Amino acid sequence: MAAHTETDVLVIGAGAGGGAMSKRLSDGGLKVVCLEQGDWIHPMSHPHTYDGWEIERQRSW
Ligand SMILES: Cc1cc2nc3c(=O)[nH]c(=O)nc-3n(C[C@H](O)[C@H](O)[C@H](O)COP(=O)(O)OP(=O)(O)OC[C@H]3O[C@@H](n4cnc5c(N)ncnc54)[C@H](O)[C@@H]3O)c2cc1C
Repeated sequence: MAAHTETDVLVIGAGAGGGAMSKRLSDGGLKVVCLEQGDWIHPMSHPHTYDGWEIERQRSW
């Protein structure tokens, strides 16, 4: 994970609105951080439940 840096704008959600807003603001020279929650993931689908968890973590995670 990147080191903590200062940002001008924090956008919550990278959907149609948040994604477009993030692009416009960053193109305009502002430092933008955009956080996206993504889908809910069942705990049994987490990579540590697989024997090949080290590989799974590199791929889909
Ligand atoms: C089935 C379907 C088909 C559609 N087809 C069309 C179409 O053909 N043409 C069209 O113009 N419109 C279409 N729409 C409408 C369009 O998808 C919405 O109008 C548009 O996506 C709304 O944008 P938004 O940024 O408000 O929300 P969203 O696009 O829903 O984005 C919100 C984002 O915020 C994230 N989020 C929410 N809470 C948090 C949180 N606490 N932390 C981090 N992230 C979070 C969500 O995961 C999501 O990615 C369709 C909608 C649906 C459901």
